[in-house]
Amino acid sequence: MPLYIVPTPIGNLEDLTYRAARVLREADLIACEDTRRTRQLLQHYGISTPLMSCHEHNERARTRELVARLRAGDTVALVSDAGTPLISDPGDHLARTAIAEGLPVIALPGACAAITALSASGLSANGFRFVGFLPAKSKARRAALAELASEPVTLAFYEAPHRLPAFLQDACAILGDRPAVVARELTKLHETYERGALSALAARFEAEPPRGEIVVLIAGQALAAAPPPAEAALMAEVERRMADDGISATEAIRQTAQRYGLPRRQVYQQWLRRTDASIATEGR
Ligand code: SAM
Repeated sequence: MPLYIVPTPIGNLEDLTYRAARVLREADLIACEDTRRTRQLLQHYGISTPLMSCHEHNERARTRELVARLRAGDTVALVSDAGTPLISDPGDHLARTAIAEGLPVIALPGACAAITALSASGLSANGFRFVGFLPAKSKARRAALAELASEPVTLAFYEAPHRLPAFLQDACAILGDRPAVVARELTKLHETYERGALSALAARFEAEPPRGEIVVLIAGQALAAAPPPAEAALMAEVERRMADDGISATEAIRQTAQRYGLPRRQVYQQWLRRTDASIATEGR
């Protein structure tokens, strides 16, 4: 019988899929990180499937028991406290062992903080590298960041709120002042996206330490290191954004500056020069 990998909500209880609810209801056993936390979720959906704890400290021992249950014909659903199991969460050893033993492993699609943040970040989602948590100590964190410096795709990190200012400072020092996004409390009441250059975000969160759960996305090296386009191309992009997206010049300037990691004032001054020049030409 299969091992189902079942994502659960990352804050909003409506984000459990119909299929996930059915699989959790029909399973013989749910393996979960924290039984109290999963019980709350199951109570919300009126599901009474038995639970077994399977967390980072007992996953190896539990894997033996769970694989035996799967072999005996039971269906097991694996969940974590929130989001997709195995994504910065337990389950890797269990899933690999089940696959190695020739048992069917079926993953359901569902909530994941990194993917949710990436979709609305405004950074390139064509390719990305999920990194998760970096080491807590600055020296080790800087070393890990240095290994990511030439990655051309968007980088996705998880970070604790009290470490965010130091993380952003280290990222700016090692990767350069790239465009980045701090996504907080996704799917919850106080969901926010803060977009800007790493230095500005570091200063912002240093001044006002954040709360809640956090995903940090940082532009990949290719975009960040690419020389900004010439002034005429930049102005053409501002105009295209205004026309295509129906946004104001101020917003189009902000977005264009952010895309290339340029100071907004610089793009704004170019825009003013251009507007003045066209008025002067019309007046002739
Ligand atoms: N497996 C989960 C997933 O699929 O996203 C991640 C689990 S990891 C232990 C928890 C971290 O994910 C948090 O510290 C935070 O960085 C991020 N996270 C989880 N929920 C979040 C949310 N609602 N908003 C922002 N970040 C979140």
